[in-house]
Amino acid sequence: MAYPNKAKNIYASQIAEKRAAGLFKEEYIITSPQGAWITVQFPEGAPEKKVLNLCSNNYLGLSSHEDIIKAAHEGLDSRGYGMSSVRFICGTQDIHRNLERKMSEFLGTEDTILFGSCFDANGAVFEAVLGEEDAIFSDQLVHASIIDGERLAKKVQRFIYPHSDMAELERLLKESTSRIKMIVTDGVFSMDGDMVKLDEIVALAEKYEAMVFVDDSHATGFIGKSGRGTHEHFNVMDKVDIITTTFGKALGGATGGCISGKKEMIAMLRQSGRPYLFSNALMPAVVTATTKVLDILSESTERRDKLADLAKFWRDSLIKAGFELKPGNTPIVPIMLYDAKLAQDFARELFEEGVYVRGFFYPVVAQGQARIRTQMSAGLEKSDLEKALLSFIKVGKKLGVLK
Ligand SMILES: *Cc1c(COP(=O)(O)O)cnc(C)c1O
Repeated sequence: MAYPNKAKNIYASQIAEKRAAGLFKEEYIITSPQGAWITVQFPEGAPEKKVLNLCSNNYLGLSSHEDIIKAAHEGLDSRGYGMSSVRFICGTQDIHRNLERKMSEFLGTEDTILFGSCFDANGAVFEAVLGEEDAIFSDQLVHASIIDGERLAKKVQRFIYPHSDMAELERLLKESTSRIKMIVTDGVFSMDGDMVKLDEIVALAEKYEAMVFVDDSHATGFIGKSGRGTHEHFNVMDKVDIITTTFGKALGGATGGCISGKKEMIAMLRQSGRPYLFSNALMPAVVTATTKVLDILSESTERRDKLADLAKFWRDSLIKAGFELKPGNTPIVPIMLYDAKLAQDFARELFEEGVYVRGFFYPVVAQGQARIRTQMSAGLEKSDLEKALLSFIKVGKKLGVLK
């Protein structure tokens, strides 16, 4: 079939509407490895500009770390480039199993199953382990991939509680007569940078015999005193039944994800997790590099400690300068501007100053909640942040955000 004019016009007008509303997302072209300092072209083809990067998920500064690159090379050299198979046919190498064991050890769980991404992990989990007699109790602000995964589990009953509203969660649990009850939450909420009240969730789970599911994508590697995640932070390591997380953020930042938890559930997922059964095995280089990340993190908390120090310094500095932040204690530091256009302008002015951040607005956050989300990285230095602060103050005054 030809591409009908009618379709073409529909898409063109939808794109034009987004542009007119200031909601069109432009991509900046990075021409260097990922890191604290990157070179960027904007628009595409423009001269390269060296900028300080405050918007990646490279929390531990490992994305381009020489030991990680070396470990990836070793995987490539010893186990080849691609698997050309899903895990259960002929795509499981010794290194895949080794990473699954290491990850279980790191998270303090019984077993782990790898996925091509955490998006896939969240797409697999609910449909595979819950049925029509079961129910999900889900925080309103969970990640898009969890929402999609819950939607795929069409037969499972689903209740959504307002963000971190423990009273409402308790009310829902109390009323429920479902066979398996599963409380579902992010560990750290990516847009607000706040943590789940995991101690309270665990207490409710025990009281109402529910399971606890945590997506710790924005926590694994750096939250908790040895970086194991929100379950370590809240001292409930043995009380979380199932954890999903990504290798695409702090853990080297390439690609991949996993589900970790009770061995019966992991066994079920190997039998019937659809993105596991029908999507390719992780490439060997990613597997060996992610394994190396876990080794580094198990040896020392230096990177995680530096990240926590920088996050505190950055948060305190912005507050002192007069900016309004979302309260929190994670390396995600959102500066509230409320207006989508202002957030875009703010980001553009900062780019001119050599500081790279992005504005976030509807539909990524709620209407009227536009912001600049900054993220700290152990690859940054305090002197970088001191410089960035001056730029934030300059732009803040220019755009009337600061007096
Ligand atoms: C980033 C993220 C994901 C997706 O991870 P990928 O491995 O990139 O697919 C899932 N859940 C949460 C909470 C995330 O922040």
